[in-house]
Parts: sequence; structure tokens; C-alpha cells
Amino acid sequence: MLVGCYLRVSTIDQAEEGYSIEQQKDKLKQYCEVKDWDVYKFYIDAGFSGSNINRPAMQELIEDVNNNKIDTVLVYKLDRLSRSQKDTLYLIEDVFNKHKTAFVSLNENFDTSTAFGKASIGILSVFAQLEREQIKERMQMGKMGRAKTGKAMNWWNPAFGYIYNGETYDVDEFKASIIKRIYKDYLSGVSINKIAENLNKEGHLGKDKKWSFRTVRMALVNLDYTGNVKYHGKIYPGQHPAIIDKETFNKTQKELKIRQQEAYSRNNNPRPFQSKYMLSGLLECKYCTCNMVLVQYRPRKDGTHLSVYKCPSTMRKKMFTQRQLSNCISETQERQMLEEYVIKEISKLQSNTDRIKSMTSSETVNTDTYKAELEKVEKSLKKLVNIYVDTDSLTIDIFNKKKEALLSQKDAINKKIQSIKKKQPDLSIKETEDILSGINGNIAKANYDAKYKIVRKLIKKIIVGNDETTIKWAFEL
Ligand SMILES: [Zn+2]
Repeated sequence: MLVGCYLRVSTIDQAEEGYSIEQQKDKLKQYCEVKDWDVYKFYIDAGFSGSNINRPAMQELIEDVNNNKIDTVLVYKLDRLSRSQKDTLYLIEDVFNKHKTAFVSLNENFDTSTAFGKASIGILSVFAQLEREQIKERMQMGKMGRAKTGKAMNWWNPAFGYIYNGETYDVDEFKASIIKRIYKDYLSGVSINKIAENLNKEGHLGKDKKWSFRTVRMALVNLDYTGNVKYHGKIYPGQHPAIIDKETFNKTQKELKIRQQEAYSRNNNPRPFQSKYMLSGLLECKYCTCNMVLVQYRPRKDGTHLSVYKCPSTMRKKMFTQRQLSNCISETQERQMLEEYVIKEISKLQSNTDRIKSMTSSETVNTDTYKAELEKVEKSLKKLVNIYVDTDSLTIDIFNKKKEALLSQKDAINKKIQSIKKKQPDLSIKETEDILSGINGNIAKANYDAKYKIVRKLIKKIIVGNDETTIKWAFEL
């Protein structure tokens, strides 16, 4: 009888009793001696997990079985062969059985050359799989438990400023002072790159590596510093002391967002909310309602660019493959001419504000009367309270009744105002007038940046046809 002994140990198994290669080898050798079997070869995979069969010695074993070199495969324990049900069944049924090679697992007293052994294959491999899932579950439960009790979650790699003490974190006062400085500098307007640069100039104290944009930014978003722990997106109060107070931390998160947006717009980012040209994103094709897009041509000899807005439905397919091509009759519009037209329209409004009122629909109800009503009710409430407090002319019951009546009146008015507001245009007449009178002189004379801002405040969208362009103002419904 020629036996192939298969041995496997993963890096994690090595720490466990009875799993070392030497111990496995010893037991298999003894067994073969008792049975009077000859060992053909020890197939040893050291440092491989059993989650797949992609292991060099395992592949060698399979080849030798395929070439009928051995009669029996012997392992110490079933999970040495594989930790997956699928792989175990594949090896026993499709490799070993196919070549009439018996399979023996010592620990489970399992032998496929017997009838009982054959019947046990399925059951045993089910248990192997089950065991693996239980280990995984136990590990996850352990982590969840740690988070809920506020214990350190990154104990193998605590955040700069903390030391792991076996349970939670202690504060390293010196390093913590550097973290505090990073937050303070950032909130006072220093850039992340500048902060890293400054810290490195001072010799990156307390750290064996240099500070980088990434490490400073990571420090600015690390929730551990607020004394909390995070697991699976949930935040739990930690056992460790905070280095950064909650308010500073929240302010920092807001500031990070703001600066990120500013960075986008500085780089001429083509996002619609920060486009480069004043009309981009506002133009709609009259015929097919597509948003018109900017097309720029090569510079002319005098250095100026010709750029036009086009309806994407009229463009060649390869540029807009995702769009259904319709036969849109929209014509190209020169960017500068459109801009001049829009500015002229705003300039007209500026010189004759009565136009605004005539353009505003008569349906628009003013909330001013309701606001005045609201003020009256509030005054009555104050008066009532004063009378009750200062004189004895009101019993508590009457006071409460009167108070309730006034409060429900107030509530009703507030609701009315809210419902009117929903029907209001984005800009009131007053707000529009304020914007127009805020322009220094005629808008046509303002610089591009100022025009850009005014246009985007006053205009909701512009419907572009071949012969007419209609502006939808923000003060219109
Ligand atoms: Zn169109």
C-alpha cells in the first residue's frame, strides 16, 4: 500500500496547538507504521489557507493521484484537505474516487475505503464548512462587541496621538498637541499641504515618517479623536478620551467640504453648478428641450475663440451615443451674441423696474399682509402674558384659554404663509429690485465675473429658438 500524506498549515493555524507541520507529520507517520503502510511522499503546504485548492503541494498530490502513483491519501484532519465543502467533495469524488484512491482522515477516523466512510463524506464536509462560518461569525461578533463597549477598534494601528493599552487608548500628550495644532491651523485657514510642509520643516516630531497631504487629511477626518469609535458606519461612544472636541471636529468637516468645492471651481471644472460661461446650463432648445452644450473652435488669428451653443440632438452621433437622435431643427448660436442679448435684457430691466411688476403674474399673492397679521397676534400674546404676570385680573384658566386661542391663530397664519410661499417665484419683486440696484452702473459695463453672478441670480432658464430667445426670469412663476 503506497500512501501520500498531505499536510497543510496556515499562518494562523501555526499558533494553535497540534497543528504544526512537525506534529501532523509525527501522527501520520505513526499511523502508517501501525497499519504497515509505506509512505510514498509527504506533500506539505506550509503557510496556505484551506479556502481554495490553489496550493503547490496540493496540485502535486492531485497530479500524482491522476497518474495512479498512490493508493491512499492520508491527512491528519479533514479541514487540512480543504475548508470548503465544494472543494472537499470535488477532491474526494472527482479526483480520489475516480482513480480508486482511498482517502483517510485520522482525526475523524474517516476512511473512504469503507461503506461508512463513503456515506460520511457529505456530512463531514458540511461540518467543515459550518465550522468555518462559525469562526467568521465569532470574529464579527467580537468586533461588534468591542465597538458597543467603546473599546479600541484600530488597536493594531492606533491613530497618531493615541497609545493602545490592551483595552482602549491612552493619550500621548505630546503627539496629541500636534493633532490639536493641525485642527487649529486648518480652521484658521492654513491649507492641508501647508500644514504638512510646516510640520516636516520642524522635523516631523513624534513621527518616523514625513507628514503628507494624505496623513494630515486623514487626521482631520478621524472620528477617534472625538472620543468615539466607528464600526460598520455606526458611531459608538468610546472609552478613550477625546483629543478634539465635537464642535471643532464638526466645524472642520464643514470646512473640508467648502474648500473642496472651491478647489473644483478654481480648476475651471466643467460641472454645471460651476460652469465657466454665464449661460452654460441655462440654455434649453426650444424644439426638443435638450440642454444646449458649448462647442469651442480653434482660436482665430487674433487669438479670440469662436464658441457656440448647440442642441446636442443636432450633433454627430459619435459625440452623444447615449442620446436618441431626433431631427431637431435647432441652429447653432454664437455664445457671445447670446450673452450680449441677455445682458441687454437685464439692462432694460435696470432702467425700467416697472417692467418687473408687469411681467409678474397677477396670481402672485403677497405674504406681507399675513406677516403683519402675525405680528399683531404675537404682540397680543406678549400683552396677555404681561397682564397675567403683573396683575391679578386673570385666573390661570382664562389665561390658558386666551393663550391657546392666540397660539392656534398664530399657527393658522403660519400655515397660510407657508402655502403661499410654495406658489412664490424664486425671487420676490423686492429681491429682484435689490439685485438690480446693487449693480454698480449699467450691467453692460460690468466685468464678466459680475455679469456671470447677476445672470445666474436673475434667470431660471433661457429657451433658445432659431429666431427668438425667451428668458424665464427667477421672479416669474
Ligand atoms: Zn433641439
